[in-house]
Amino acid sequence: MKTEALTTLLKKTGVILDGHFLLTSGRHSGRFLLCSQLLQYPEEAEKVCRLLAEPFKGEGIDTVVGPAMGGVILAYEVARALNARALYTEKEDQAMAFKRGFRIEKGERILVVEDAVTTGGSIQKTIDCIRREGVEPVAAAVMIDRTGGKLALGLPTRALMTMDIESYSADHCPLCRQGLPLTRPKT
Ligand SMILES: [Zn+2]
Repeated sequence: MKTEALTTLLKKTGVILDGHFLLTSGRHSGRFLLCSQLLQYPEEAEKVCRLLAEPFKGEGIDTVVGPAMGGVILAYEVARALNARALYTEKEDQAMAFKRGFRIEKGERILVVEDAVTTGGSIQKTIDCIRREGVEPVAAAVMIDRTGGKLALGLPTRALMTMDIESYSADHCPLCRQGLPLTRPKT
Protein backbone atom coordinates (compact mmCIF):
# COMPACT_ATOMS: atom_id res chain seq x y z
CA MET A 1 0.00 0.00 0.00
CA LYS A 2 1.35 3.42 -0.97
CA THR A 3 1.40 6.33 1.50
CA GLU A 4 -1.46 7.91 -0.44
CA ALA A 5 -3.66 4.81 -0.06
CA LEU A 6 -2.77 4.62 3.62
CA THR A 7 -3.66 8.29 4.10
CA THR A 8 -7.02 7.65 2.40
CA LEU A 9 -7.67 4.65 4.67
CA LEU A 10 -6.75 6.64 7.79
CA LYS A 11 -9.02 9.51 6.74
CA LYS A 12 -11.89 7.16 5.92
CA THR A 13 -11.66 5.45 9.31
CA GLY A 14 -11.51 8.80 11.14
CA VAL A 15 -7.90 8.58 12.32
CA ILE A 16 -6.79 11.66 10.39
CA LEU A 17 -9.19 14.57 10.77
CA ASP A 18 -8.76 17.72 8.71
CA GLY A 19 -10.54 20.91 9.69
CA HIS A 20 -9.98 23.72 12.18
CA PHE A 21 -9.54 22.42 15.68
CA LEU A 22 -9.24 23.98 19.10
CA LEU A 23 -6.63 21.98 21.02
CA THR A 24 -6.67 21.56 24.81
CA SER A 25 -3.61 23.82 24.90
CA GLY A 26 -5.77 26.62 23.47
CA ARG A 27 -3.86 26.56 20.17
CA HIS A 28 -5.51 25.97 16.80
CA SER A 29 -4.62 23.25 14.30
CA GLY A 30 -5.78 22.12 10.88
CA ARG A 31 -5.30 18.45 11.61
CA PHE A 32 -6.13 16.14 14.48
CA LEU A 33 -5.35 12.44 15.00
CA LEU A 34 -7.63 9.92 16.71
CA CYS A 35 -5.76 6.63 16.34
CA SER A 36 -8.26 4.53 18.30
CA GLN A 37 -10.75 5.13 15.50
CA LEU A 38 -8.91 2.60 13.33
CA LEU A 39 -9.31 -0.18 15.88
CA GLN A 40 -13.12 -0.25 15.56
CA TYR A 41 -12.64 -1.76 12.08
CA PRO A 42 -10.83 -5.13 12.38
CA GLU A 43 -10.36 -5.50 8.65
CA GLU A 44 -8.74 -2.07 8.25
CA ALA A 45 -6.71 -2.48 11.45
CA GLU A 46 -5.40 -5.78 10.14
CA LYS A 47 -4.30 -4.12 6.86
CA VAL A 48 -2.40 -1.38 8.69
CA CYS A 49 -0.80 -3.84 11.12
CA ARG A 50 0.36 -6.03 8.21
CA LEU A 51 2.12 -2.95 6.83
CA LEU A 52 3.69 -2.28 10.23
CA ALA A 53 4.89 -5.88 10.40
CA GLU A 54 6.17 -6.06 6.82
CA PRO A 55 9.77 -4.75 7.34
CA PHE A 56 10.27 -7.21 10.21
CA LYS A 57 9.36 -10.42 8.43
CA GLY A 58 12.43 -12.63 8.51
CA GLU A 59 13.80 -10.80 11.57
CA GLY A 60 12.83 -13.70 13.81
CA ILE A 61 10.60 -11.58 16.04
CA ASP A 62 9.35 -13.69 18.98
CA THR A 63 7.22 -11.08 20.71
CA VAL A 64 5.49 -7.81 19.89
CA VAL A 65 4.94 -5.37 22.76
CA GLY A 66 2.81 -2.21 22.82
CA PRO A 67 1.81 0.24 25.55
CA ALA A 68 -1.84 0.05 26.69
CA MET A 69 -4.37 1.13 25.56
CA GLY A 70 -3.48 2.00 21.97
CA GLY A 71 -0.78 -0.64 21.71
CA VAL A 72 -2.88 -3.60 22.88
CA ILE A 73 -4.73 -4.37 19.65
CA LEU A 74 -1.85 -3.06 17.56
CA ALA A 75 0.62 -5.48 19.17
CA TYR A 76 -1.87 -8.33 18.80
CA GLU A 77 -2.44 -7.74 15.07
CA VAL A 78 1.25 -7.13 14.29
CA ALA A 79 2.08 -10.32 16.24
CA ARG A 80 -0.46 -12.24 14.18
CA ALA A 81 1.23 -11.02 10.97
CA LEU A 82 4.65 -12.07 12.30
CA ASN A 83 3.49 -15.33 13.83
CA ALA A 84 4.77 -14.02 17.17
CA ARG A 85 3.16 -13.58 20.59
CA ALA A 86 1.73 -10.28 21.79
CA LEU A 87 2.13 -8.51 25.12
CA TYR A 88 1.32 -5.07 26.44
CA THR A 89 2.67 -2.82 29.15
CA GLU A 90 0.53 -0.75 31.51
CA LYS A 91 1.06 2.39 33.54
CA GLU A 92 2.62 1.89 36.96
CA ASP A 93 3.44 5.11 38.82
CA GLN A 94 5.48 7.13 36.32
CA ALA A 95 6.65 4.10 34.34
CA MET A 96 5.24 1.29 32.19
CA ALA A 97 5.34 -2.28 33.47
CA PHE A 98 4.35 -5.82 32.55
CA LYS A 99 1.37 -6.89 34.65
CA ARG A 100 -1.07 -9.86 34.55
CA GLY A 101 1.77 -12.37 34.76
CA PHE A 102 3.29 -11.29 31.43
CA ARG A 103 6.97 -12.27 31.27
CA ILE A 104 9.78 -11.92 28.76
CA GLU A 105 12.91 -14.04 28.59
CA LYS A 106 16.55 -13.07 27.99
CA GLY A 107 17.36 -13.50 24.31
CA GLU A 108 13.79 -12.95 23.20
CA ARG A 109 13.55 -10.92 19.97
CA ILE A 110 11.11 -8.12 20.70
CA LEU A 111 9.46 -5.58 18.42
CA VAL A 112 7.86 -2.57 20.13
CA VAL A 113 4.81 -0.97 18.49
CA GLU A 114 2.80 2.21 19.00
CA ASP A 115 0.05 4.03 17.07
CA ALA A 116 1.08 7.69 17.10
CA VAL A 117 4.15 9.09 18.71
CA THR A 118 4.38 12.74 19.68
CA THR A 119 6.85 12.95 22.52
CA GLY A 120 7.57 9.24 22.61
CA GLY A 121 6.51 9.01 26.27
CA SER A 122 4.69 5.69 26.45
CA ILE A 123 6.73 3.87 23.81
CA GLN A 124 9.98 5.04 25.46
CA LYS A 125 8.72 3.83 28.85
CA THR A 126 7.80 0.49 27.25
CA ILE A 127 11.32 0.20 25.82
CA ASP A 128 12.73 1.07 29.28
CA CYS A 129 10.50 -1.59 30.85
CA ILE A 130 11.82 -4.26 28.43
CA ARG A 131 15.41 -3.16 29.11
CA ARG A 132 14.81 -3.45 32.88
CA GLU A 133 14.08 -7.14 32.21
CA GLY A 134 17.51 -7.43 30.59
CA VAL A 135 16.30 -7.56 26.99
CA GLU A 136 17.29 -5.09 24.26
CA PRO A 137 14.36 -4.70 21.84
CA VAL A 138 15.22 -5.34 18.18
CA ALA A 139 13.31 -2.36 16.80
CA ALA A 140 10.25 -0.14 17.07
CA ALA A 141 7.41 0.20 14.55
CA VAL A 142 5.06 3.16 14.76
CA MET A 143 2.01 3.96 12.69
CA ILE A 144 2.42 7.76 12.69
CA ASP A 145 5.55 9.60 13.71
CA ARG A 146 4.27 13.04 14.69
CA THR A 147 7.71 14.45 15.40
CA GLY A 148 8.30 15.08 11.69
CA GLY A 149 11.09 12.49 11.64
CA LYS A 150 12.88 13.71 14.77
CA LEU A 151 11.79 10.67 16.77
CA ALA A 152 14.79 9.23 18.63
CA LEU A 153 14.01 6.12 20.66
CA GLY A 154 17.56 4.79 20.76
CA LEU A 155 16.83 1.78 18.55
CA PRO A 156 16.01 1.18 14.87
CA THR A 157 12.58 2.71 14.24
CA ARG A 158 10.24 2.42 11.27
CA ALA A 159 7.23 4.68 10.86
CA LEU A 160 4.46 4.09 8.31
CA MET A 161 3.93 7.84 8.08
CA THR A 162 5.73 10.91 9.26
CA MET A 163 3.81 14.07 10.04
CA ASP A 164 4.65 17.45 11.42
CA ILE A 165 1.29 18.85 12.46
CA GLU A 166 1.44 22.61 12.85
CA SER A 167 -0.47 24.47 15.50
CA TYR A 168 -1.08 28.19 15.76
CA SER A 169 -1.86 30.67 18.51
CA ALA A 170 -5.41 32.01 18.19
CA ASP A 171 -4.00 35.42 17.17
CA HIS A 172 -1.91 34.05 14.33
CA CYS A 173 -4.10 31.27 12.95
CA PRO A 174 -4.36 31.21 9.14
CA LEU A 175 -7.51 29.05 9.40
CA CYS A 176 -9.23 31.75 11.49
CA ARG A 177 -8.27 34.26 8.80
CA GLN A 178 -9.91 31.99 6.18
CA GLY A 179 -13.05 32.10 8.33
CA LEU A 180 -13.24 28.33 8.85
CA PRO A 181 -15.48 27.44 11.81
CA LEU A 182 -13.44 26.38 14.85
CA THR A 183 -14.44 23.03 16.37
CA ARG A 184 -13.38 20.93 19.30
CA PRO A 185 -12.26 17.46 18.24
CA LYS A 186 -14.77 14.87 19.52
CA THR A 187 -12.46 12.87 21.74
ZN1 LIG B 1 -7.89 29.22 14.16
